[in-house]
Amino acid sequence: MNRLILFSAPSGTGKNTIIKEILAQRKNLAYSVSTTTRKNRPGEENGVHYWFISIEQFRKEIDGNAFLEYAEVLGNFYGTSRREIDRILSDGKTPVMDIDVQGARILLQKKIPMLTIFLKPPSIEILRQRLTARGTESAKEIERRIQLAIEEIHAEPEFDYAVTNDLLEKAIAEVLSIIDREIPSAT
Ligand code: 5GP
Repeated sequence: MNRLILFSAPSGTGKNTIIKEILAQRKNLAYSVSTTTRKNRPGEENGVHYWFISIEQFRKEIDGNAFLEYAEVLGNFYGTSRREIDRILSDGKTPVMDIDVQGARILLQKKIPMLTIFLKPPSIEILRQRLTARGTESAKEIERRIQLAIEEIHAEPEFDYAVTNDLLEKAIAEVLSIIDREIPSAT
C-alpha cells in the first residue's frame, strides 16, 4: 500500500496554498477531498474543496463506517472517507490529506502507513494577522481558532516533520524535499 501523506496545521497557517502548490508540482499525488458539515465559504466548491453534507447525512455515513477517521472541529464535523482514499490508491497515486490533530492521532493509532507533516505559523501574532486579513471569520471565531492553534502547536512532536510557513516559497521547497526524499514515487 502506498504511504499516505498527512498535513495538519492550525487554521490560517497557509496550509491550503502549500498543498495546492505541491499537488501542482508532483503529479503522482492526489488530494483526498474531505466530507464536512461546515457551510461552504465563498469560492469553495462541492467535490473540490470538500464534500458538503448535512449533519444527518454525516451521522449516517458514520453509522455506515464510511470514514477512515472523523472529528469535530470548532462545532463542525470533518471526515476522511474510505472511498476517497481507496479511489486514489487504486489509481496508483499517493493520497494527500489535510486533517486536524485529532484526526491525525486516530490514523496514527490505526497504524496507517503515513508521512506526517505539521505546518506551523512563525508565531501566534502572525497567525492572528493572517486570519484577520483572510476576512472569512468573525473576530470571535478568529479568537477560537487562535486558542485551538495554541493547543495544536503542542502536538508538533507527534509528527514526522514540522515546517514553519514563514516565507511561502521556502516552506513549499522544504515540503517538496521531504516528500521527494520519503516518497520517491511521488514525482
Ligand atoms: P476549515 O474549516 O478551516 O476548512 O478546516 C478546519 C479544520 O478541519 C482544519 O484543521 C482541517 O485540517 C480540518 N479538517 C479538514 N478535513 C478534515 C478531515 O477529513 N478530518 C479531520 N479530522 N479534520 C479535517
